[in-house]
Amino acid sequence: MKISEILKQGKPTISFEVYPPKTEDLFPKHREATMKISSLKPDFMSVTYGANGGTRKYTFQMASDIQNDYGVTALPHITCVTTDRNGIHERLDDLKARGIENVMALRGDIPEGYEFPIQNGYHHANELMEDIREYSDFCIGGACYPEGHPEAPSKQADMDNLKRKQDAGCSFLTTQMFFDNSILYSFLYRIREIGITIPVLAGIMPITQKKQIETAIKLSGTVFPARFLSIADKFGDNPKAMKQAGIAYATEQIIDLVANGVKGIHVYSMNKPDVAAKIKENLSEIL
Ligand code: FAD
Repeated sequence: MKISEILKQGKPTISFEVYPPKTEDLFPKHREATMKISSLKPDFMSVTYGANGGTRKYTFQMASDIQNDYGVTALPHITCVTTDRNGIHERLDDLKARGIENVMALRGDIPEGYEFPIQNGYHHANELMEDIREYSDFCIGGACYPEGHPEAPSKQADMDNLKRKQDAGCSFLTTQMFFDNSILYSFLYRIREIGITIPVLAGIMPITQKKQIETAIKLSGTVFPARFLSIADKFGDNPKAMKQAGIAYATEQIIDLVANGVKGIHVYSMNKPDVAAKIKENLSEIL
């Protein structure tokens, strides 16, 4: 099913994200985690795409398993930073042949020292989306950054660029992770003011290990509220307590979002079925 149709139903949705392995020997472990998370019956599941497309084979296989074997709508990600238009068309044909109807269209991070853009390639995600829309009938998702994308000269410029994604045929957006809901609320207010009307899914990352904090800051430049930092400070060296506190924090964030009218919740579940299951259970009467 197209995710745009799922989101049109008007009820709150929950989706989970998984990532592919880098090597074949790890595939069974990732497959098992994917199968367990699928059994929670989320509204859909996304599968990330390794930087530069190195994990493409596994991304597509996992998406195909989710959709065809586990009965959950799949959203594979693709990036275009190192792939030209013919390569993207090949990937779309491959996904279509597997019965996939949705794709998360991203530019990807530009590798250091890399000559960008490549010949017959794309400059930005909006160009990729335009091409996908012309080439096929996939439902297209895109990324957005409530705290601003690191390369953008200003938040306003980033939001103006975001509008180009909607204009290019993007049907919904998923946010970068954030840990302070007020950042999302002010972002939503500002993008609605400039005419971005498509659904925005809130990206929630349950931080269950202290070391994830550093990775999250490196990946997204996110700001951690003092309330969260004191949790990490108090429980960071006690793995079981940190996991419990991290799940509780993510659950509270989601409850507040839903209470304030946010309809789509996307959990960066990081191939952790137990974390995904606990969050789903905590929300059993809410979502
Ligand atoms: P773009 O939309 O092209 O934006 C990149 C920068 O260019 C921004 O600063 C923007 O303001 C600016 N810009 C955009 N359009 C224009 C324009 N037309 N003219 C001028 N400037 C413009 N990475 C992976 O490698 N694999 C994944 O699976 C993956 N999944 C992700 C999922 C989500 C929900 C998010 C939020 C990010 C994900 N990323 C992933 C990271 C993403 O690839 C990087 O953040 C990348 O740097 C930007 O990708 P984009 O599609 O947002 O690019």
